[in-house]
Amino acid sequence: MSNLPLRPDIEGDQPYGAPELDVPVRLNVNENPYAPAPGVVADIAQAAAQAAVGLNRYPDRDFATLRQALADYLAVESGVRVPAEQIWAANGSNEVMLHLLQAFGGPGRVCLSFTPTYSMYPEYARDTLTEYRTRARREDFTLDVDAAVSAIHEARPAVVILASPNNPTGTALPLEHVQAVLDATRRNGPTTSNGSPTDAVVVVDEAYGEFRRPGVPSALELLDNNPNLAVSRTMSKAFGMAGLRLGYLAAARELVDALRVVRLPYHLSALTQAAALAALGHRQELMSQVASLRAERDALVDWLRTQGYTAFDSDANFVLFGPFQDRDAVWQALLDRGVLIRVVGPDGYLRVSVGTPAEIQQFRDALTAINKEEQP
Ligand SMILES: *Cc1c(COP(=O)(O)O)cnc(C)c1O
Repeated sequence: MSNLPLRPDIEGDQPYGAPELDVPVRLNVNENPYAPAPGVVADIAQAAAQAAVGLNRYPDRDFATLRQALADYLAVESGVRVPAEQIWAANGSNEVMLHLLQAFGGPGRVCLSFTPTYSMYPEYARDTLTEYRTRARREDFTLDVDAAVSAIHEARPAVVILASPNNPTGTALPLEHVQAVLDATRRNGPTTSNGSPTDAVVVVDEAYGEFRRPGVPSALELLDNNPNLAVSRTMSKAFGMAGLRLGYLAAARELVDALRVVRLPYHLSALTQAAALAALGHRQELMSQVASLRAERDALVDWLRTQGYTAFDSDANFVLFGPFQDRDAVWQALLDRGVLIRVVGPDGYLRVSVGTPAEIQQFRDALTAINKEEQP
């Protein structure tokens, strides 16, 4: 028995994470199922070799070149151009959001989000000693704007996190709703030491932004008029680089400068910077799979509905479906057939990531087989 002075508030907590099981069909953590093409691999290897020559030195602390490349990427992807100084990056958007909570949260402060949503948000709050509060989304998982506004008035949060498209539901928020939340946060953040009210920071987590359906806008469009908005993105999902650990955000320069204060020095290694830059050079190839993944997603939603399930419309690369009386049993039965999905979200529902056509076929076959066994 150890006698370590563990923080009382993390006693009994388990490390976060989906089960990492070695099975043929892994559709549990919303990765892009396509490995990078040989040309991408070769460029990353070359860039890494070049960076290795200088590894006796600390890396570029403010990664100016990478920030510029990310700004260029966003301009192409969303049509919104921001200067490189308005970009921030870290080891995954998880770290980006931790930086946000480190800079704006803290003891006595509140982080507000809307459930069901991403299960990491309470962990960023816990790790920064910020109080995490939630309100429920509507039954269709859109935002109840009136309830959100009154929750902001009541909680005076320092940070509001809106996932759009949301995980695990796939729901994207209309910009009017995001703007309504932004308006409500004006002068409704915590008060400063001299008693003046602040504007709460609104984080729109667009980890799945590239998968949004045509006509669904990005919150990047709201950046110009909202200095308290941060739009978070990642190379982990659509970009197919989950193993790289590169997340980023766009926000007003003043907000980005606050994040520079709390980051650890040299948090982005020279190898990460080099590999990310090389990968961004191939954005067209990498993004070409997004259209087919979207089409596969829509087809999967349709198929699940023809099987009699409720499947929610999705702007992401996964689908939430059900309901099941015993979702854990269905999850296990799929696993027994070599298909790993995720038990997450509202009671009775399961989430499946969009894999390759062959993987989706195996998922469908497994689910159909389970159904037949249950209802002979
Ligand atoms: C996957 C995911 C992230 C991305 O995490 P990374 O740290 O960038 O890999 C962020 N937000 C949501 C809602 C996600 O599902």
